[in-house]
Amino acid sequence: MLVFKFGGASVKDAPGIINLTKVVQKYADQQLLIVVSAMGKTTNALEKLTDAYVNQIDDVHQIYNDIKAYHYHILDELFEPTHQVFNDIENTFVEIDWMIEDEPHDDYDFIYDQIVSIGELVSTRIVTAYLNKEGINSKWLDVRGYIHTDNTYREGVVDWPKTREHIEQDIPAMLENSMVVTQGFLGGTSENFTTTLGREGSDYTAAIFAACLNAASVTTWKDVPGILNADPKYFTDTVKFDQLSYTEAIEMTYYGAGVIHPKTIKPLQNAKIPLLVKPFTDPDAMGTVISEIGLQHYAKPVIILKQDQVMVSISAKDYTFITEDHLSAVFSLFAASHVKINMMQVSALSFTVCFDYRAERFNHLLEQLKQSFNVKYNNDLTIITVRHYKQDELKALIGDRKILLEQLSRNTAQMVVK
Ligand code: ASP
Repeated sequence: MLVFKFGGASVKDAPGIINLTKVVQKYADQQLLIVVSAMGKTTNALEKLTDAYVNQIDDVHQIYNDIKAYHYHILDELFEPTHQVFNDIENTFVEIDWMIEDEPHDDYDFIYDQIVSIGELVSTRIVTAYLNKEGINSKWLDVRGYIHTDNTYREGVVDWPKTREHIEQDIPAMLENSMVVTQGFLGGTSENFTTTLGREGSDYTAAIFAACLNAASVTTWKDVPGILNADPKYFTDTVKFDQLSYTEAIEMTYYGAGVIHPKTIKPLQNAKIPLLVKPFTDPDAMGTVISEIGLQHYAKPVIILKQDQVMVSISAKDYTFITEDHLSAVFSLFAASHVKINMMQVSALSFTVCFDYRAERFNHLLEQLKQSFNVKYNNDLTIITVRHYKQDELKALIGDRKILLEQLSRNTAQMVVK
C-alpha cells in the first residue's frame, strides 16, 4: 500500500482539488491512504481566529466568516448546491460556532487545538466528496480515533502502541475496497479531545500511518520540484537533490528546513520506507527520494533559514560564573514552558540561548527566568545554517548582516544574524 500526503498549497483552491484527483486517478489500482492538510493558509487564519477569540477582540466574527466564505467559495466551484457535502461542512463548522459564542475559559493551547483542527476536518470532507463525485471510491476517516496522543496540546506526543493497534486493526480492511482520506496534523486524547502534532505536522501523520501499515512508500506532494538546497523564496540558483539519506534529511529538518516536518523521517527510517517528495504539478517527475542511499558529494551547500528567532542571555544575579546548577535550573524552566532551544552557548558569565519567538510562551518564560537571573534579549533574528559549507561561501551569504552568535563544526556552520 502507498501513503500520499497533500499539503495546504496543493489544495488551496478548486483547481488544486481537481489536480489532486488527477494525481490519485493515476494510482487507482493501488491501495492508497491519503493524508490532507488544511486548505491554503487556513491554519494561519485559524490561528488568528484563536488569538482574537482568546483575547476577545472585536473582529472574531469577521475572521471566522472569511474562513467560512473561503471554503464555501471552493465548494461552490466543485459541487451542485444540493450536494450532501454542504451539510457536512456546516456541521463541522458548528463546533466553532458554539465555542466562539462563549467566553474563553480554557488554557490557550487547548483552545488552539480545538479551533485550528477544523481546517483539516473541513479539507478532508471536501476532498473525499470530490473524489467520490469523480468516481474514485473513498472513505473519510476521523484520524482522532487512530492517532492517539497525550494531552500536550499543540505538540501532542503520539502513543505509538495504541496508535499502531488501532490502525492495524481497522485500516487494512478499509483499504481493500476504497481509498481512505484522513486529516494530517491531528490526534485525539483518551478523553476524546483534539490535539495537534505541531505546525506542518501532516508529514508526520503520513509517516505514522506508513510505519503502522508497512507502506511501500510515502509520497508528499509539494509545490516545489523536490528537496532543494535552499528555499527558492530567498535564493535564486537553487538545485534539487535527486536523492538524500534519511540522516541528511533528519539533519536538515532539525535545523529548520520547512520542506518536511522534523518528526517525519525517524519512523520511516526505522521501517526502511522511502519518502518521495514530488511536485503536484508534474506527478511523473522523479522529485527527491529519501532513503538509506545518500549523496557522497554536495555540489552546493544546504542552506536553511530559521526566522523569527529570539536570543536570550542569562547571567547570575550575583555575577558569578555560570555553573551546572544554573544550567540545570534554566533547562528546567525551558522544558516546563515547552520552549525548544535551537542554539546555545555558555561563557564564563552568561548562558546564551536562541529559540523560536512565540509571544505567550516567551513572556511566560521571561517572567520565570527573571526571578532568578539577569536576562537580556534580542528578537527578530534569523539563524542561518549551512551544511557542507565552504568558508568563503559563508561571507557572501551573510553579506552586511551582523553576526550575534556563530558556531562552526566540520560539516555545519550556524550563525545568528540581525
Ligand atoms: N495545516 C497544518 C499547518 O499548516 C499542518 C500541515 O499543513 O502540515 O501547519
